[in-house]
Amino acid sequence: MPELCEVALPVPLRTTFTYAAPASLDAPPACGARVVVPFRNRALVGVVLACTEQAGVRDGIREISEVLDAEPALTPALIALGRWVASYYLAPVGEVFRSMLPPVVEIRAVQEISRTRAGGEYLRELEALEERTGDERTEAAILRAFPSDGAPLRAARLRRLAGGEMAMARLLRRGALEARVITRRRAGRAGGVEFASEAPPEWSPDAPRHALNPEQLRALEAVRADLAAGQFHVNLLHGVTGSGKTEVYLGAIEAALAAGRSALVLVPEIALTMALSRLLEARLGPGAGVTVLHSALGDAERSAAWWAVRSGAARVVVGTRSAVFAPLERLGLVVVDEEQEASYKQEETPKYHGRDAALVRAKLEGAAVVLGSATPSLESYQNARRGKYRLLELPTRVADRPLARVELVDLREDFQRTHRTRALGERLRGAIGERLAAGTQALILINRRGYSWFMLCRSCGAAVQCQNCSIALTWHKRRARLLCHYCAFSRPAPAVCPKCSGKYLYFVGEGAEQVEEQLRAEFPGARIARLDRDSVRTQQAYRKILEGFAGGELDVLVGTQMLAKGHDFHRVTLVGVVSADLALGLPDFRAAERTFQLLTQVAGRAGRGELRGDVLIQTHYPEHYAIQCGARQDYRAFFEREAQFRRAMHYPPFAALANVIVRDAKLENAARWARQLAAILAPAEERGLKVLGPAAAPLARLRGEHRLQFLIKSPRRSVLTETLTRALGACAEKEIPEGAVLVDVDPIGLM
Ligand code: ADP
Ligand code: ZN
Repeated sequence: MPELCEVALPVPLRTTFTYAAPASLDAPPACGARVVVPFRNRALVGVVLACTEQAGVRDGIREISEVLDAEPALTPALIALGRWVASYYLAPVGEVFRSMLPPVVEIRAVQEISRTRAGGEYLRELEALEERTGDERTEAAILRAFPSDGAPLRAARLRRLAGGEMAMARLLRRGALEARVITRRRAGRAGGVEFASEAPPEWSPDAPRHALNPEQLRALEAVRADLAAGQFHVNLLHGVTGSGKTEVYLGAIEAALAAGRSALVLVPEIALTMALSRLLEARLGPGAGVTVLHSALGDAERSAAWWAVRSGAARVVVGTRSAVFAPLERLGLVVVDEEQEASYKQEETPKYHGRDAALVRAKLEGAAVVLGSATPSLESYQNARRGKYRLLELPTRVADRPLARVELVDLREDFQRTHRTRALGERLRGAIGERLAAGTQALILINRRGYSWFMLCRSCGAAVQCQNCSIALTWHKRRARLLCHYCAFSRPAPAVCPKCSGKYLYFVGEGAEQVEEQLRAEFPGARIARLDRDSVRTQQAYRKILEGFAGGELDVLVGTQMLAKGHDFHRVTLVGVVSADLALGLPDFRAAERTFQLLTQVAGRAGRGELRGDVLIQTHYPEHYAIQCGARQDYRAFFEREAQFRRAMHYPPFAALANVIVRDAKLENAARWARQLAAILAPAEERGLKVLGPAAAPLARLRGEHRLQFLIKSPRRSVLTETLTRALGACAEKEIPEGAVLVDVDPIGLM
């Protein structure tokens, strides 16, 4: 009986596809195996999700051309996880599975084109014409390119002709050409088990091991109990900065391995994977096969690491968001460090949250979970409050080190005293000077890239805007250009206002580049470096600066929030925050939470060694609760205040939220589709759904497209998911293009 396979293909459609198992095979491909299939005129690599025996006709169903994996790439748990991601986030299923699979390095698909009889006749017709259009000339050139013996040509070669791609498509439709895809294995098959994980780790059997303090021990015991029970259970490890959460993770990983299971550790940034994997290698020894997975690895490297994990040679994976799909088997433990970090949310399709996908995966595999944070997300803490998660607390720093002393500097007073507005107020400059004199270090956080925030016209008051986005351009002095931080657009600073031709333009606001310049001017002898996306463009440059700072070759490090995370510097005695207010002003319900988190994180960078640390936070709103609680590092108080606001406004964690953007290059299209969508959504209000919008999105134009926004809140998750699923189906019926409606479930930012 014929076997039909459900195959997920990397195309932006919300469906899977049916193919027949190759007749030449005795058995159908395994579920989870990658296959090559014909799709339109291309060959695509997809993955088999299910196989069913089906009696009767299979007319029109095409056959799988090649099965790439004898052993399936994806485990059953990963297939289930992929299906969950697709349905929960309403993401095209094929794109979800594409992000789960290793890069395809072992095969090459070649599209071959041959000329048909009809093609030969059409060429003669074209040649007989007295005059030919440009299109016809290209078509004739393509048809003439074929040798007379009927041998096929590579499609890539024909595409290189000017207009070749379009002409080829027309000729294929006409039946003048025929396409066929052949796949070739690359010599020396890459991937597979024979790829050991690169260089042997430097293993020292006596890697530092601290005697755990009683709180660490209690936390570890709780996780060990979950591992022993072999059941899904979530622990929220709320530990102040420097409380030694990493030791708890390490102990839990050791316990998982001892129980014969594997462990997955997610960290919020690529830069943090290295330090942690080294620590793990030193602690666990080479047998554990600690493997790093993240998106910055090259294809060959990533494929090798992926297959090392798949083969079982690697039992511990440290990675960023996408590592949640690491093909570990017998998963026993999942650790999500800094679980509140926004970087766990993928901003492109599929817009999944790494932490939440990790929780679902752990549930599917019966694994224990540790979510670690000094400032848990409102969502996770509320779950702990409700008893859904077990709360484990590390309320003090290790070795009785005090928390840093935090002082708020009221910029309004600074101005009244000095009658100047400068990024670095008097108090902060003084404190930096003291550190330089004492030979200790300072970290200065400024949460804005570039030199000036924007360029403003004194006559009409307009800022110089991006031509593709409704956003002011940022001045980058070193590059001498105004840049859009949302699209690639840049331009030189105009001499006159582009709107009113006014002559008086001036720069407003200080970014990281300018703060660095001011520091250099103020402290000429000091060794200063800047860390942000503009100053470091590679992982290497990033590591070099951090190592230089850790090694004492630098006195002051200034940078964006890249600085705030994770790093364990022991000689920092001052952390300065240039402005606590930048994040507060954003039109986003998470503004206060972000501000609080940033202040707590950054305060955690001071006084981590033997030396005591001070934190100075400059602000215009010292009385705001996010800033007050951040300064006191009082998470509980912040949570209470913020939870009140969220509950009253029906925001997460007290409602399920989705952000829906309708976009098009033509405003009238976006507006029409948004009206249609509004009508589709309206009936759901009876089921408790609140639909706000359509309204202009905060970024009303982005990369040349107009954007209208709906915010959808629901007291019940299931109602939200059902409604959105139905709405997308209805949009398809109304022939609204799939790419025009962007759904973001559990959005992190509303821009
Ligand atoms: P967190 O992630 O909670 O901010 P870390 O795990 O980075 O803190 O630990 C902070 C520092 O304390 C590290 O240098 C670590 O080696 C050290 N440390 C951890 N546990 C102990 C302990 N029980 N005794 C002494 N030092 C410890
Ligand atoms: Zn732009």
